[in-house]
Amino acid sequence: MKIKVAKDTYLVGIGVSPGIAIGAVSLLDQHPLVDQVLIESTEVEAELLRFQQAIERAQEQLQKIKQAVSRQQHLREHLYIIDTHLLILEDEMLVDGTKKAIRAQMNAEGALSQVLEQLRALFDNIDDEYLRERRSDVDAVGDRLLRILTGVSERTIDNIGKESLVVAHDLSPAETMQMDRSKILGFITDKGGRTSHTAILARSLDIPAVVGLESITSMVYDRLPVIIDGSSGVVVLNPSEETSREYLERQQSYEYLERDLESYRDLSALTTDQVHVALRANLEIASDMEQAKKHAAEGIGLYRTEFLYLGRSEPPDEEEQYRSYCEILQQAEGEPVTIRTLDIGGDKFVPELNLEDEANPAMGLRGIRFSLHEERLFKVQLRAILRASSCGKIRILFPMISGVAEIRACKKILCEIQAQLDQEGLSYDPNLDIGIMIETPSAVMIASLLAPEVDFFSIGTNDLIQYFLAVDRGNEHVAYLYEPLHPAILRALKATCDAANDAGTGICICGEMAGESLYTLVLVGLGMDELSMNPACIPRVKRVLRQISRQDGKLLVDKLLSLTSSKEVSTAIEQEMRSRLPDIFARPRI
Ligand code: PEP
Ligand code: MG
Repeated sequence: MKIKVAKDTYLVGIGVSPGIAIGAVSLLDQHPLVDQVLIESTEVEAELLRFQQAIERAQEQLQKIKQAVSRQQHLREHLYIIDTHLLILEDEMLVDGTKKAIRAQMNAEGALSQVLEQLRALFDNIDDEYLRERRSDVDAVGDRLLRILTGVSERTIDNIGKESLVVAHDLSPAETMQMDRSKILGFITDKGGRTSHTAILARSLDIPAVVGLESITSMVYDRLPVIIDGSSGVVVLNPSEETSREYLERQQSYEYLERDLESYRDLSALTTDQVHVALRANLEIASDMEQAKKHAAEGIGLYRTEFLYLGRSEPPDEEEQYRSYCEILQQAEGEPVTIRTLDIGGDKFVPELNLEDEANPAMGLRGIRFSLHEERLFKVQLRAILRASSCGKIRILFPMISGVAEIRACKKILCEIQAQLDQEGLSYDPNLDIGIMIETPSAVMIASLLAPEVDFFSIGTNDLIQYFLAVDRGNEHVAYLYEPLHPAILRALKATCDAANDAGTGICICGEMAGESLYTLVLVGLGMDELSMNPACIPRVKRVLRQISRQDGKLLVDKLLSLTSSKEVSTAIEQEMRSRLPDIFARPRI
């Protein structure tokens, strides 16, 4: 029986790749059904062989995809995803675990699905969003093996008809990579988050995508007309003629705007009153550097070095870190690269470092507290950063500072290392800028005491909001309280900027707020020198920046500071931006 879908059914998910797509649903049925069957002891060898052959077949399939993908220049940087899948096929827990279950007399697909369940449970207990989302890679490899074992034909994204909007429970990065842009207009999934490989790829491929819709696969059927807006995360099922027309217009103006944004690439980031606000990139993985260059970022405002420590049994040694920092500096071509020292603990979990379980990890041994506690590890990183500073313009950034003593302790260790390097005759930049993340309430309250200690502040609003409002940034039950425009946050930003400006200390913001073009006027009005963001956000922010003045921003900030709730603040900002830049800030209909 066909599900009945009312006209203009609006849903909201997570928009991970901007753009508007209008088309018909192609529903992908991905998960092969598996029976767990007990087998005779005489059948064990045959099942082990079947499992081994399935692995080999999966390897062949992935190698084929790898070859096809490596022929496409713009996808080459993502080949590591296929390599990750190939590595998962060699994973001991997966392979040996399944073989063990087969030897305990379970059929191959049953044994594999049991092991996959165990692996999924392990991933679900990981706090870190980035790592948790790597679970989708394990799922993708597991499904591939299960499809081979159960004889369900390899579902090629090629079978999909023209003008399709793919709807799937989840899409593996390998599947996303194979999408033919001339057929597939966009995709929507039940699962997924902002930092999944699939989301990263959708942006590289320029395919509008909305993920995390939870149960979209059970709400639609093949050929149902659908509209998706990958910027706002809005999905409209069975749109009326009027809605379709409206979105068609929006699509045209979006495409016009995108073409227009390209023309800003080589223009400087200047306001109309000639204030230069550097637009820099946040860097997590190597491929972000390509994006940073593509969008003409003025260097790196935040390099989250914790990603160097992930997925390996030993932390990277000095030489390896030195080489990777130098490589980034080389690519930055003289622009500054802000290297943040290891920021783990709390929600950022690095299993390889064997952190102890803590009752309250967000307030535990995280960020700089961990580094000062594990001084040996800290010194290795500082030596690598200092040595690399002779290859280009490095700025060093310390995370989670809550008091003056911590920054003084960091500077003392830095001095010790400089003395060591002098003795060893190794060169470094003696004038390298030192900065701290402002992300704890105490740092905001004593910003005027911290400012003379450092060259720059970088406001980490992702954490600042969590600590100021006492709202766990990863807890969906309190997500409604996570309000960047809360009057308390506005005051915190204002106090920090004023303290920095009074002391002549540089001030930038590198939390997600920096990349939200709706906030650009406010951030410039507060007095920020730099905004550091996901590189894909730079063109839009630059376009806004070039049409506003710091003076107007100051007036808006004064007005916002008289308001009493986040709602009032956000309404005032939306009204202001819509009246100034109606082509960019059209009201989303929902
Ligand atoms: C922040 O907290 O805003 C920030 C930029 O750091 P991270 O998101 O890595 O904690
Ligand atoms: Mg932070």
